[in-house]
Amino acid sequence: MQRIKSLEPIEGADAIEKATVLGWQLVVKKGEFQAGDLCVYCEIDSLMPDKPPFEFLKPRAMRIRTVRLRGQISQGICFPLSMLPPDAEINEDADVTEMLGIVKYEPPVPESLTGTAKGGFPSFIPKTDETRVQVLQEMLSKYKGTPCYVTEKLDGTSVTFFIKDGVFGVCSRNLELLETSESVPWKIARQLNIETKLRALNRNLALQGELIGAGVQGNKYKLKTQAVFFFTAFDIDAYRFLDYADFAAMMKHLELQSVPIASTAFELTDDIDELVSLSVARSQLNAAVWREGVVIRPLQEKTDMMGRVSFKVINPEFLLKYD
Ligand code: ATP
Ligand code: MN
Repeated sequence: MQRIKSLEPIEGADAIEKATVLGWQLVVKKGEFQAGDLCVYCEIDSLMPDKPPFEFLKPRAMRIRTVRLRGQISQGICFPLSMLPPDAEINEDADVTEMLGIVKYEPPVPESLTGTAKGGFPSFIPKTDETRVQVLQEMLSKYKGTPCYVTEKLDGTSVTFFIKDGVFGVCSRNLELLETSESVPWKIARQLNIETKLRALNRNLALQGELIGAGVQGNKYKLKTQAVFFFTAFDIDAYRFLDYADFAAMMKHLELQSVPIASTAFELTDDIDELVSLSVARSQLNAAVWREGVVIRPLQEKTDMMGRVSFKVINPEFLLKYD
């Protein structure tokens, strides 16, 4: 449940207007809401249940996607509170996802790519994930001005390589993987000599990166084979992410490639619209395609009550093109 922060007209459109909710911009029917109203806001990638109020989403497989209406990019949908069951408690920030039977859309990861699971994801390494900037206004205000680095977000699948107490492991997003001939992450680990390189460091460490290329997420970058681009190094014993300078030095030392770096001297702004505009650019890997977005982190790692200070800004043009 969220408040409509503001409503503005859209040039050349009489029946619709632009609403701002959290850091999101979306199109609503004119007159349906007033600025300051509470509404049920559903983010992009919500999968709505197949029920009458959501029937209009049937042609879109019930999934809320980024759309452009009269030139205005629209992300998410606002429903009036009247769509809630009559006994629902009305509270700003209340989470009504379960009450409404909404689940999050997860893109399918082909099993053929990762191969067989060996077990769950190791508990001594954090899984890779990034929060959307649009829900982070408070955090941005707190860290405004902090020197940050900006990397290109690649659209592939997450891999983690680690060495702990003499044991080398390879993981997909959520699982540790068995070494088999079908496992692409293991194949790449062998190609890049990662086990030997990690062993030589004589410390317990994890490297996390994005696997892209042939057979992964439509191979938007049009690579001939597969490749891994790293974005995180994690000190397992200290349970701490390496600062950017140490991460960059380690990539150089190990002769591994990091994700494309967009900036290493970015002063964090708390203006979400500005961050979204900045995310709109071509990929550094292939200028013929939009980049998916950027990931922004302080040069000196920071951990907050909410976790690691690190977030994604997705390029809306990428979503319009590929979602
Ligand atoms: P969703 O949250 O929509 O389910 P997801 O969790 O798989 O998707 P996102 O949250 O969109 O993915 O993005 C986080 C993921 O982005 C990380 O898990 C990582 O695999 C990937 N990634 C790609 N490029 C980068 C980068 N430059 N920095 C950090 N993570 C990156
Ligand atoms: Mn995520």
